[in-house]
Amino acid sequence: MSGIGLDRIAAAQERISGRVRRTQLALSDSLSARCGHPVYLKLESHQPTGSFKLRGATNAVLSLGDDAKKRGLATASTGNHGRALAHAAKAEGARAVICMSALVPANKIDAVKALGAEVRIVGRSQDDAQEEAERLVREEGLTAIPPFDHPDVIAGQGTIGLEIADTRPETELVLVPLSGGGLAAGVAAAIKARLPRARVIGISMARGAAMHESLRAGKPVPVEELETLADSLGGGIGLENRYTFAMCRDLLDDVVLLSEEEIAEGIRHAFHEEGEVVEGAGAVGIAALLAGRIDVRGPTVVLVSGRNIDETLHRRIVNPGDAAQSAGARGR
Ligand SMILES: *Cc1c(COP(=O)(O)O)cnc(C)c1O
Repeated sequence: MSGIGLDRIAAAQERISGRVRRTQLALSDSLSARCGHPVYLKLESHQPTGSFKLRGATNAVLSLGDDAKKRGLATASTGNHGRALAHAAKAEGARAVICMSALVPANKIDAVKALGAEVRIVGRSQDDAQEEAERLVREEGLTAIPPFDHPDVIAGQGTIGLEIADTRPETELVLVPLSGGGLAAGVAAAIKARLPRARVIGISMARGAAMHESLRAGKPVPVEELETLADSLGGGIGLENRYTFAMCRDLLDDVVLLSEEEIAEGIRHAFHEEGEVVEGAGAVGIAALLAGRIDVRGPTVVLVSGRNIDETLHRRIVNPGDAAQSAGARGR
């Protein structure tokens, strides 16, 4: 079988230990009652940068030599990967350059700067930013750390699977948010090695599910990127995909797609029933259970992948009746 195996994930676990949180596996009373089996939430939303991406980024940075750290790391991600890389680089005394287009909102730029990274503003599209990151690699010797299709990134995300297997070896089902597939590939590799009878199901939004379309086509295909509440799940898997496509093909038992209203319900449930602020991408596992889209046959773990959602949007989703209330009038 292709891809990253247990040895590499175990090595990642040792490497990043003490640098990322070993997050809680919290029993959800309401989801357990609804499903008739214990349901646990793996709260990666509690990582310091608000998502699991800190695991892969930290493992990738720690795997570099001193020279590469000094020359620097480059990425064009403005989202959770960019934050994670900035944080991981700072913690290791490495330079990080995050390339962004002039259209990226100021709050995102400030968030990355506050984490100690250099921000380079170029062009007016994500493609322009990506090109600049590639130029820095080509011409200035920086190292690219991509958000999912990289062995050290996949192995880092896979450490979540080891924690699940160690803490809850009775687990029979794991629900994993799915975009480029670094998270699902790593977690599935760990779970299938340690708990061979457990199923692993990837969850995406119906609007622009790149890995799902690619799995159906039998090869990586481009998909139109559409606006979605699960914005961290947007984007393609890369037509030159080297690892995550084959691993998801070989390791995932199923992929489930959700509507925007189903995702919103997941965000609302997380807030009102679990007391957790969760972004759309992080709520898809909860949403899939609420929508009755998953056949639950035993102890289940739902991976809650992140919490970075615009505050005004979150307020609008969790208090739909309050649309008329001015933002900020109900600070929590
Ligand atoms: C990146 C991300 C995902 C998807 O991870 P992939 O490795 O791209 O599949 C899911 N949830 C959140 C919050 C993310 O930031």
